[in-house]
Amino acid sequence: MSGFDISGKTAIVTGASSGIGAATARALMAAGVKVAGGARRVDRLETDVRLELDVTDPASAERFVAEAVEQLGGLNILFNNAGLALGRYPFDESNESDEDAVFNTNVNGLVRMTRLCLPHIREYGHIVNMGSVAGRQAYESGATYVTSKFAVRGFTYALREDLLGRPIRITTVDGGLVETEFSIVRFKGDTEKAAAVYKGIDALTAEDIADCVMWAVTRPWHVNVDEIVVKARNQASGGRILRDA
Ligand code: NAP
Repeated sequence: MSGFDISGKTAIVTGASSGIGAATARALMAAGVKVAGGARRVDRLETDVRLELDVTDPASAERFVAEAVEQLGGLNILFNNAGLALGRYPFDESNESDEDAVFNTNVNGLVRMTRLCLPHIREYGHIVNMGSVAGRQAYESGATYVTSKFAVRGFTYALREDLLGRPIRITTVDGGLVETEFSIVRFKGDTEKAAAVYKGIDALTAEDIADCVMWAVTRPWHVNVDEIVVKARNQASGGRILRDA
């Protein structure tokens, strides 16, 4: 069966300055999609359209969407990828500032970007949310991040209900351990702690996740891939990783 030709379509990728967002933007562009990337570190963007975006700031998000849609000349695909975790500690050590940043980015930011983009997605639409295995099963010392990714999963399925009948497909890609700058951000710049996360395991790469996104968006038009769950071979669950095997 033939797939869906995305060449000539348009896409917004949030968090396109690094890791999964950068890799997916590259893959989309290689397939002939015109991509507008957004991030706070605008100097690191390599997309067709490069614009500053802070998904936690309503004014920034509004400005970004208006400018991106104008420069793209429309919008088909939204990859809601911007996100982060902060800290790895039992919940009784949590604090207001980490909780705010994680919920405002991963949940409020993703919901906001979706709301702002929706009126522009008129045909051949696809919203792909970057979920996580943390949004399916809790692991220890990650309560805030786990909560945020459960919310992403809930939102994905709520959208599926509310947008039924519209020409928009909806997918969540729930990744396991992916080696990106994610852990450097999580450990607030501590590169030694970050490196330990990927030690002794062949982690997924950003390109592996980009492959999943590309697969979902290129299925025949009548197919909606609701969710993709993907982990490294030596990772059974969020908290269970076999090292040096
Ligand atoms: P990464 O390399 O740290 O990239 C995170 C991206 O999010 C960066 O481009 C960053 O850009 C952007 N971002 C963060 N806060 C933002 C904000 N307020 N406004 C706009 N952009 C913002 O990490 P990654 O692994 O690629 O993470 C991408 C997504 O995958 C996240 O949603 C993460 O939760 C999810 N994920 C990661 C893993 C993993 O193991 N790495 C596993 C499953 C899911 P700026 O800092 O330039 O703004």
